[in-house]
Amino acid sequence: MIVMKFGGTSTQDAPAIANVVEIIKAHLHQKPIVVVSAIAQATNMLEKIGKFAADKNDREARETLTQLFSRHFTIIDQLIRHITRNRNLRSVLDAMREEIETIIKGVTILRELTPRTLDTLYSYGELLSSRIVSVALQDHGIQSEWIDTKDFMFTDENFNRATPYLDIIEEKLKSNLLHLVNNGVVPVTQGFIGITLSGRRTTMGRESSDYSAAIIGAALDVDDIQIWTDVDGVLTADPAVVPDAKKVKTLSFKEAYELSYFGAKVLHPNTMLPAIEKSIPIHIYNSRRPQSTGTLVTAALPSTSGVLKSIAYKRNITLISISPQKRIGQYIFWEHIQNVFTKHGITILASVTAEYGYSIAAEEKQTTQALLQDLNDVGIVSINEKKCIISVLGSSITQNPGVLNRIFGSISDFNINMISFGASQFSINIVLEDGDALEAVREIHSELFGEVFTDDIFEVLDQQKKK
Ligand code: ASP
Ligand code: MG
Repeated sequence: MIVMKFGGTSTQDAPAIANVVEIIKAHLHQKPIVVVSAIAQATNMLEKIGKFAADKNDREARETLTQLFSRHFTIIDQLIRHITRNRNLRSVLDAMREEIETIIKGVTILRELTPRTLDTLYSYGELLSSRIVSVALQDHGIQSEWIDTKDFMFTDENFNRATPYLDIIEEKLKSNLLHLVNNGVVPVTQGFIGITLSGRRTTMGRESSDYSAAIIGAALDVDDIQIWTDVDGVLTADPAVVPDAKKVKTLSFKEAYELSYFGAKVLHPNTMLPAIEKSIPIHIYNSRRPQSTGTLVTAALPSTSGVLKSIAYKRNITLISISPQKRIGQYIFWEHIQNVFTKHGITILASVTAEYGYSIAAEEKQTTQALLQDLNDVGIVSINEKKCIISVLGSSITQNPGVLNRIFGSISDFNINMISFGASQFSINIVLEDGDALEAVREIHSELFGEVFTDDIFEVLDQQKKK
């Protein structure tokens, strides 16, 4: 048994879904369970619909809804040839559209888009795409059943960033899904969305469909969790910034986790957590080039101690420095600061301390007025905005002599605001000016990965060889 998750670009239009059907067909012998994201941009459109409605902009809300549904109807008409199937699917969509219209009415009257309502709105993206993919499989002669996550993906009530109840999910999946798969049926279900115990739709955070796939894979102890996306796997850098980035063939769970935590978009960071627990490999494949071997994330790696594997970056970072108003015990000061960060749920990307000073790097969107107010009560705060954080990742980095020299040599022209190194064996984090982000990534990449070579770990992509 395997899980195959397809992202929004893999299902964005009729040809893309037809391609997904072919990919699933080629894996039928492995008994796939299919997890899909909403079609590209659908989640953003649903969010817009909610915001327009809350602003009493009923007309824009409806126009966006019309656009969203016309994209889905076009897909159905181009894809589903069987007349009854086409008609039935259309009426399923009509019903969903009516439900969304009712929500729009409610939000317009209340003039408020609560996290709970937003999650209900979001859920339609995945409900729509999964319905279509399931019928498309049937239309191609594959036995498929559409499965609603409301029957198994139970979460807490933390809307927009719900936490799944793994034990319940495992129990429900085993009783609801196993017999189907064993009878040759391909279940198609939704990523991203869950349900509370009292039946309200939740979501587990933007881009979390990969995580959904891993939860399902771990619950059913599958042989492989496949994440099908629009790039060849994990690369040594974002190919939009570094065109000659190489593919990284294998990564450890820990490396993949740090890489996504520090900004690589290819996998949601939580994806690794359920997979580690059951030691299930994760493959990242390109649905546009299904013949490519992708990237394997696994626990069982040959020793690659000291090898650097990739560069990630995040922009719009703020540096916050705090020093105490008066001389209090250092440990008391630390505790006060930590309490504030915990209260506000701040994800600290890097931090450094001096005897009486503490600096952290966090995403700008997390550094709210409320946070700064609370920090002001603890000490003297200074804020430095418009930074970026660049992370160089690999394993046992501290075992790689000379690596710091090479990295800092390559960016000696740039203004460095902060460095964190040594807390983890997996990353070196450097805070620079936001405007220097892309150039600095290119410089570091050319120093560390510039040479053209293919070996056990790295692969020069076919597209690049032809150049
Ligand atoms: N559709 C959701 C989003 O756009 C979840 C996902 O694609 O992973 O965030
Ligand atoms: Mg994604």
